[in-house]
Amino acid sequence: MYYTMQMVLFIISQCIMKEERLRSIEEMGEFGLIEHLTKDARNIQDTTIKGIGDDAAVIGQGDDCQVVTTDMLVEGIHFDLMYTPLKHLGYKSVVVNLSDVYAMNAVPRQVTVSVAISGKFSVEALEQFYEGVYAACKQYGVDLVGGDTTASVTGMMISVTALGTAAQKEIIYRDGAKVNNLVCVTGDLGAAYMGLQVLEREKKVFEEDSSIQPKLGDYEYVVGRFLKPDIRVETLLKLRELDIRPTSMIDISDGLSSELLHICKQSDCGVVIYQDKLPVTMEVNLAAAEFQIEPLIPALNGGEDYEILFTIPLSAHDKVKSIPGVSIIGNITEHKGKAIMMTGDGSAISLQAQGWQAYGN
Ligand SMILES: [Mg+2]
Repeated sequence: MYYTMQMVLFIISQCIMKEERLRSIEEMGEFGLIEHLTKDARNIQDTTIKGIGDDAAVIGQGDDCQVVTTDMLVEGIHFDLMYTPLKHLGYKSVVVNLSDVYAMNAVPRQVTVSVAISGKFSVEALEQFYEGVYAACKQYGVDLVGGDTTASVTGMMISVTALGTAAQKEIIYRDGAKVNNLVCVTGDLGAAYMGLQVLEREKKVFEEDSSIQPKLGDYEYVVGRFLKPDIRVETLLKLRELDIRPTSMIDISDGLSSELLHICKQSDCGVVIYQDKLPVTMEVNLAAAEFQIEPLIPALNGGEDYEILFTIPLSAHDKVKSIPGVSIIGNITEHKGKAIMMTGDGSAISLQAQGWQAYGN
């Protein structure tokens, strides 16, 4: 068929109009996109106890159930091989999934690991990655039971699925927080974010002059928290030992603010936290000062700390106070969907969700 110039212009203009009607993923953001894509998901199986919408899905019948969670990590989006040793990457890929299993109050048992790799990777490189996978499996007592390997056009992609078990009555969701519950967090906040800033800075220095070796000595703690996160399993065990049953639980992967808002939304409540109660280490304060970043930013929005955020009844206050490495940072309020932080000078700041905002950033 022969097209006249007018026809060509008409087709192009139709295409542009069509383009304009398409919605941008960037504008929708991560959480909006998930909500949009999963709004039609309907569970028809009796064994699906909890589908989409928590740290992990819950599957089972009767008393015993399994939790299942999966995560994908993409080179250039989630990790940069300029400063991420493959062994650490293997370790972290497993741990971030186990964190979601623990956040359901379940015990992880198995993982599957799938990788897509381009021609730039050697067998030795993959061996290093799997060394990290096995190290994490050993550390947390889980079995690597399957996976897949395939080629990719560029870079590396990793998909890990973790399975865990729990009695149905022991599973803790995001939707159980009640007004006046105390909000608690394990460990400390913001270190992984500062570790990432340090690594990004050293990468830039190295790119400008490859004879300069990275200086990471002063930042061991924050860099370690970014490259090799670990889960505070001992704290969770202590909660059980003291017979404290959290009413809601979530792990901190996207940042404290985001996770607090998830709890508020799903528990139909609000929250107030106090700036002076936030556990921020000296290492984070020092690194933040050097980078001229307000330390509150990594603490609230940094992400990748893989600490556990949970709520407990007020009556468990004294017991929880006795657990080392747990901070009570605030309480649940009746102001639905409102997450507020009170600063040292008494002003109230509204907390915003982060997640990834732009697709590909
Ligand atoms: Mg999670």
